[in-house]
Amino acid sequence: MLDGKNIVGYDRTQRGNVTFRTINPVLNKENETVFYEASREEVEEAVSLAHSAAVFYAETSKETRAGFLRSIAQEIMALGDDLIDLYCAESGLPEGRAKGERGRTVGQLELYARLVEEGSYVQPSIDTALPHREPNPRVDLRKMMVPVGPVVVFGASNFPLAYSSAGGDTASALAAGCPVIVKGHPMHAGTGNMVSSAIASAARMHNLPEGVFSHLNSKGHEVGEALVKHPFIKAVGFTGSHGGGRALFNLAASREEPIPVFAEMGSVNPVILLPEMLKKEKDLWAKTIAGSVTLGSGQFCTNPGILIGIENSDLDRFSEILSEEIHQVSPSTMLHPDIAQKYNQGREQAREQKGTSVVAEISDTAKPNVGRPTILKVKAADFRENPRLHQEVFGPFSLLVVCQNIEDLERSVALIEGQLTASVIGTPEELAGYDFLLRQLKERVGRLIFNGVPTGVEVCASMHHGGPYPATTDSRFTAVGEDAINRWLRPVCFQNCPDSLLPPALQNANPLKLLRRIDGNLTRDKL
Ligand code: NAP
Repeated sequence: MLDGKNIVGYDRTQRGNVTFRTINPVLNKENETVFYEASREEVEEAVSLAHSAAVFYAETSKETRAGFLRSIAQEIMALGDDLIDLYCAESGLPEGRAKGERGRTVGQLELYARLVEEGSYVQPSIDTALPHREPNPRVDLRKMMVPVGPVVVFGASNFPLAYSSAGGDTASALAAGCPVIVKGHPMHAGTGNMVSSAIASAARMHNLPEGVFSHLNSKGHEVGEALVKHPFIKAVGFTGSHGGGRALFNLAASREEPIPVFAEMGSVNPVILLPEMLKKEKDLWAKTIAGSVTLGSGQFCTNPGILIGIENSDLDRFSEILSEEIHQVSPSTMLHPDIAQKYNQGREQAREQKGTSVVAEISDTAKPNVGRPTILKVKAADFRENPRLHQEVFGPFSLLVVCQNIEDLERSVALIEGQLTASVIGTPEELAGYDFLLRQLKERVGRLIFNGVPTGVEVCASMHHGGPYPATTDSRFTAVGEDAINRWLRPVCFQNCPDSLLPPALQNANPLKLLRRIDGNLTRDKL
């Protein structure tokens, strides 16, 4: 059921006059469906419905919320090949990737359903009263996490399923007990609409209030800005460019009531190539890195955009093999003509910077919107002088930074800004000798990888997909895995509250059988 309308609660609406279409980047032509930009009225209605639904939804049982998340997964699977075909037509990504991403999306919904059932995310903590403590008696204090309220999610262009309408941000916010309004990404509005209709029918099945979910189409900034500014919105999830994330963060901070914006933005994910490992396994690492740089046409936030090594004959040979490996890759279509154009611009600009030279570049392709895999090389001194070279070029691109020695390498790493990841490629013996470097890297990243490439993000409790600014706007939180739910929760402490008025998680009888911290000890016991 694809009609280009917005989904405001349970209604499919079309009140604006501004329309747009998505583009098939493989064919380089517009897809058929006409989408209607959400009007001010639709924005207002979606937010009011979310506000009205918030209290009820926050207090739904774990069975209802887990059931809702599982029904969304089932409804998405029931969309069958129509969803896969549309995903491919709107993104240019291949069918295998579409199916893989759908698997990840339903897997995430199942993961949050299990987390809701298990309940640890509410972090119940009780410090019982000590009326006879001298000199100050202690009152009864009980704390837990509660949902923040309506959340706005900006769909990500590079994950039409796993980080868009029913993606990780939406799934974790719904799991936390927050209504969600998605500002759909205009490049895959149809995929977003189909998935959103699946969410709406799952909400109906569980008799949830209609404002628990809405999906607004927009190609432009107005709808997103209006949502972020709205006083009923309490938090924002975003994946995309640094410019977009920072603009929304600033907007949220300038509200009368500032709200958090969890923006995951650019990252160059440096890969450090230590000499002993390069001496032994340069072929393996050249092949592995070439695969990682070009995977999905480089359109991953974990794409390895900077490689750093120490000048010697092994690094020279590594660079030759890397070039050979890059030339084995068939260049693939990027998500959208605008992204392809931005990539070409970024690549050209990098080539024009002082001291850069080409290691590999595939340029002979007749297909439209193809991301040409490109590796450039630069001396560390030129790299350090030029902040332009530290920035992400979103696509199949990487810059090899050649250092004179380890001091040169450490000085270069010192200039790298906050990142989602850094990787160190080295033998166990040599790694032991690079304490300072490892500490330097740990301070700058959310995930430090040993002998591996940054692409491939496992969705699990121990994953951290975040990092210091400018990789994200809040380094304390992850956008992937169970802990992503923490972005949508805030603590509330109940002081001397009668047992019957406490939420079940904090009641003496522990009816939810949660693991609680009672007077400093973790236990499932009743009080
Ligand atoms: P984007 O331009 O940041 O847009 C993401 C979403 O935010 C879109 O829905 C966009 O709305 C909205 N938006 C952007 N700026 C806004 C503003 N100032 N006010 C209100 N809303 C705003 O990212 P994109 O469209 O996904 O891709 C563009 C570029 O972002 C890529 O070429 C790449 O450089 C980068 N990117 C990076 C990552 C990463 O993970 N590092 C991922 C994706 C993209 P509209 O489109 O409707 O204007």
